[in-house]
Amino acid sequence: MATFDPFLGRAAGSLDEIRHRARGRVLVVGLGASGRGALELLARRGADVRGYDRTPPADLGIPVFGGETPPPEALERVDLVVLSPGVPPERVVPAMSFHAPNARATGEFALGLAHLFEVRPDVEAFLVTGTNGKSTTTHVLAHLLEASGRDVFAGGNLGPSLAAHLASDPPRHTYVLEASSFQLETYPGAPARAAVVTNVTPDHLDRYPDLAAYAATKARVFAGMAAGRLAVVGPGLPSPAAPPDDLRRVEIDPNAVDGPSMRIGTGTTVEVAALRLVGHHNRMNVACALAVAVDIGVSPETCAEALARVEPLPHRCAFVARIDGVDFYDDSKATNVASAVATLRGLDRTFVLIAGGRAKPGDDPTPLVDAVAEKGRAAVLVGESAEVLARHLGRIVPVDVVPDMDAAVAAARAMAQPGDAVVLAPAAASYDRYRNFEERGRDFARAVHAAASHADTPPHP
Ligand code: ADP
Repeated sequence: MATFDPFLGRAAGSLDEIRHRARGRVLVVGLGASGRGALELLARRGADVRGYDRTPPADLGIPVFGGETPPPEALERVDLVVLSPGVPPERVVPAMSFHAPNARATGEFALGLAHLFEVRPDVEAFLVTGTNGKSTTTHVLAHLLEASGRDVFAGGNLGPSLAAHLASDPPRHTYVLEASSFQLETYPGAPARAAVVTNVTPDHLDRYPDLAAYAATKARVFAGMAAGRLAVVGPGLPSPAAPPDDLRRVEIDPNAVDGPSMRIGTGTTVEVAALRLVGHHNRMNVACALAVAVDIGVSPETCAEALARVEPLPHRCAFVARIDGVDFYDDSKATNVASAVATLRGLDRTFVLIAGGRAKPGDDPTPLVDAVAEKGRAAVLVGESAEVLARHLGRIVPVDVVPDMDAAVAAARAMAQPGDAVVLAPAAASYDRYRNFEERGRDFARAVHAAASHADTPPHP
């Protein structure tokens, strides 16, 4: 199995080790939302905490340090270094080796799990990772488990951080946790009830040396599971992402989700038309969640009823408005080529694509060209990758390169025909212009609503 260890053997190797060290002196690296969650949980555990951030916030009431890398004082006699997912290990590991050779590193996610299994040993934990579809699968599985009467926390990479939740709320019985590859880098393994890898396609290749290293990081989600537990995987995973042989493996069949109904377990079916999550990719996510729910004994009838009520998460192919017979969808979360392609392929009609942003290194636009060739009418391109995308897509459809979101919506309206969809599916990260994909999606919705109100205004004489 391929290995990749950006922590150079300095990550804590077990939940026990994290628990033990998390009562000593701890440096939290990165003081954003997840770092603050870790600080609160550590304070609750009685740890002696300190923080480091390149630009340290004031008023945290603990010693905080700034600078390009953690200074020697920040690392003095530290037992554990807790990294936020956004901080590259290279920023910290060399300083650790030099100033705190006996310290170990971990992440907020692993810290949360270490604490959780200590305070609630009977906890039922389900982990979900993959390149795309993590949040949706987590959301659907949590919904199915809630429908079965369980008391569920859904979070991790999605929404509230595990550590922040554990610092303030009593632990629940059931956890459905979305794990990013960054969180898995420091994950030592836990006795999860089941784990899912939805799919693995090129992403984050600025952080990983190659696809094999990225895929092997995803496979860490299976670490620590007891033999015979369930591993659900999407089709055609690269081999480094494969689950260990002693787990029970269910591979989702992409052909089985495309009929008018989907099978649940052995008997019951759910009508696809009843689902509010649209597209083949979402049916794959639903199938992953169902495989877990049915395996642990949620009745097919309960699953079918619950599925008909699950709404899409915001910015995942979410309907925004209809203007002059054209439906506008916000899929701002499509931050790589594979996710945008999945959405476009799942549409049942001709579309005008709005794309562009900060391209993911190594992400080849060819599959996007193929998807636009199928049902695309035109493409409007904005942001850093606009020119490159225009060169690729301009060979098959009319393209327009525009300066901002308002211009993008206006151009898309001008090119769309009644009955079409206009889809913001950027196939790129948002960081060229926005703080995150949510802000980009909100900007799109704002521009669409502004255009809609303009469309409704009677023309001035
Ligand atoms: P993640 O949490 O992994 O980013 P989300 O569920 O938030 O995944 O979906 C993000 C985007 O990825 C969606 O807007 C859609 O464009 C695409 N997507 C969702 N599920 C899948 C899937 N199973 N395969 C490919 N792309 C998907």
